Amino acid sequence: MNGAKLNGASAEIAYSRRKEDLPLLVVSQDYELFFQDSGSIEKCLLEPCDLLLRFAEKQDMRVTFFVDAGMLVAMEREAPSAPALRKSLDTVRSHIESLASAGHEIGLHVHPHWEDSVWTEDAWQFAGSRYQLRDFSEAEVSVIFDSYSAALKDLCDGNIRSYRAGGFCIEPFDRIAGKLRELGITVDSSVVPGAVLKDDDKGFDFRDAPDEAWWRFSESPVRPDPDGDFIEIPVTPSRLPLSHYWGRLAERLIGHRTTDMIGDGRSKALGKREVVRRLMGAGRVSELSIDAPKAEQLLANRTNARFRKVWQVMGHPKLLGESSLKRLERFMQRTAIKRATTVSGLADRIRAS
Ligand SMILES: [Zn+2]
Repeated sequence: MNGAKLNGASAEIAYSRRKEDLPLLVVSQDYELFFQDSGSIEKCLLEPCDLLLRFAEKQDMRVTFFVDAGMLVAMEREAPSAPALRKSLDTVRSHIESLASAGHEIGLHVHPHWEDSVWTEDAWQFAGSRYQLRDFSEAEVSVIFDSYSAALKDLCDGNIRSYRAGGFCIEPFDRIAGKLRELGITVDSSVVPGAVLKDDDKGFDFRDAPDEAWWRFSESPVRPDPDGDFIEIPVTPSRLPLSHYWGRLAERLIGHRTTDMIGDGRSKALGKREVVRRLMGAGRVSELSIDAPKAEQLLANRTNARFRKVWQVMGHPKLLGESSLKRLERFMQRTAIKRATTVSGLADRIRAS
């Protein structure tokens, strides 16, 4: 009974005709390189996706891949002077095409820092400035959405229906709402209810978002509006133990990874202020994830003791490890998952109900 309260009556109504499918699982992946040292496309994209696709096939599951389309645009821009990059771009493009033709969803993921990034000496140089869309003018935002979505549409027969903001930096939503409508993208999956990040160059605050399976909205994805034309499919939140942040700090200090993630790059570090805030125990609500550094939470008692009708577990191919999928499989058994669907697949069910 408590579960119905946690996940909202709205979800109950939407699924009343399909109770036999519940609980439902959505697995989403942010398909991208690292933003400090990019790492290779083989280790950050191709190899881990192969692992995930084998798992998905076994489970008869379709995955939503939110593709960092700015990467494709930047590769195209820099390729004329770098034959190796041209080859990588061709490989990545056909990889995305193969994901789409295998029935997986391709969603739009926007990291605008690609606008200022250049390829020199066989590596990406990330400027480090202008990480969020709010750092760009309205005209620039418009060009970004047009070019990034066009780069993706080419690879999946124009079928782009879902959006995830880079670094979850979805606000201010009114900057992009019109553009998303124009592109026919009316499903968002950028909210992790309860999570907050206050970094110097990026941030979000989802403390007011409801912890529900989904909701409609119009002006802001954290403010449900039953008449809204957008649907939010939030990522299931998970409360990380304090030891998680101390463990990550220790890894950075000793320069040695303790998890089996496949990706060979390096993330941009959080600012000192945010690191200290987290080490002190603030901001521990995070996304439920199959990323190797976080996947342990899938099996934490406090995670799956809670009854939910819909779980959305996200991750990044670059952070996937073999342990991720073993844990996901056990998680699916423990939560008695009946079916899996994509982000837009879930939105279709909601709209059809
Ligand atoms: Zn991302």
